[in-house]
Amino acid sequence: MDNGIKLYVVVPCYNEEEVLPETSRRMIELFNKMKSEGLIGGMSRIVFVDDGSKDKTWEIIDALAKAHTEIAGIKLARNAGHQNALLGGLMTVKDECDCAISIDADLQDDINVIPDMIKNYKEGYDVVYGVRNKRDTDTFFKRTTAIGFYKLMSAMGVNIVFNHADYRLMSRRALDALSDFPERNVFLRGMVPLVGYRSTNVYYDRNERFAGESKYPLKKMLSFAFDGITSFSISPIRLITALGAAVCVISIIMAVYALVEKLLGNAGMGWASLMMSIWFIGGVQLLSVGLIGEYIGKLYKEVKRRPRYIIEAYVNETDDAAKE
Ligand code: UDP
Ligand code: MG
Repeated sequence: MDNGIKLYVVVPCYNEEEVLPETSRRMIELFNKMKSEGLIGGMSRIVFVDDGSKDKTWEIIDALAKAHTEIAGIKLARNAGHQNALLGGLMTVKDECDCAISIDADLQDDINVIPDMIKNYKEGYDVVYGVRNKRDTDTFFKRTTAIGFYKLMSAMGVNIVFNHADYRLMSRRALDALSDFPERNVFLRGMVPLVGYRSTNVYYDRNERFAGESKYPLKKMLSFAFDGITSFSISPIRLITALGAAVCVISIIMAVYALVEKLLGNAGMGWASLMMSIWFIGGVQLLSVGLIGEYIGKLYKEVKRRPRYIIEAYVNETDDAAKE
């Protein structure tokens, strides 16, 4: 009987035929090393999730899964997108494993910190975030946009881990808690911190993608960032309310100004009344939109049906249990 930790590594793959042979080779190598060190048990798996690829990705995964016991494959019926593919993979394996690590197929994230993640897990951490040390290998553009993104998110009150992407370990109970988030707009970086439990970071240097090209063109990146903000923050709505209030204040100033001009005889027929109405109505409209937005924000929260709390421990010892 094998008592080691059952680790599942979940790897979403979209058109990754160029990287899969090398990725699987390196992962198997690491698995063998960790097994020989007793860090993980023999039942551990590397699970490739084919996210509706158009190339030979699934054929490769299928062949790998047949050739190596430690490799498994999941095929999604169509391209669901990185976050959905990842969540799909994690939810499929969560009842089979003790903990799962998610990582990209291109090995831009250093797999050599996986042993550190597992050590942290053994010490009792439920979530271990992989955090990038530096971004030398990213292009200037990717680096600045990414850093700007993290700053914007935290300015909007969204709790995400700085410089952490989707490279992380989650314990089984953390995965169970994650499964209680039934939302359709999946943004795992924002959801995992909401789960809670004890978490820590491991640091690594990000490499260059060793083959193939990024599956995240600018358009997808922008929509991802927009998704992240609108799924976690109603600050943009509050911004409208604030703007409405500001315009209302300006409308008072404009009213005084228009009246003075009128009394001084500088204003033409109808100018003062038009001026006052335009500013006042503009302010009232913006405030109303903001107010409606507040209700929509509340509705949005309700619709997501996120868990209101997650229980970490419940100590209630009976006398019998205490005696044991
Ligand atoms: N990916 C996916 N579905 C998609 C797009 C990407 O499963 O629709 C996977 C891709 O195969 C890779 C990971 O998501 O394993 C991250 O993509 P990529 O490395 O291209 O993003 P980047 O590192 O450039 O941000
Ligand atoms: Mg990548």
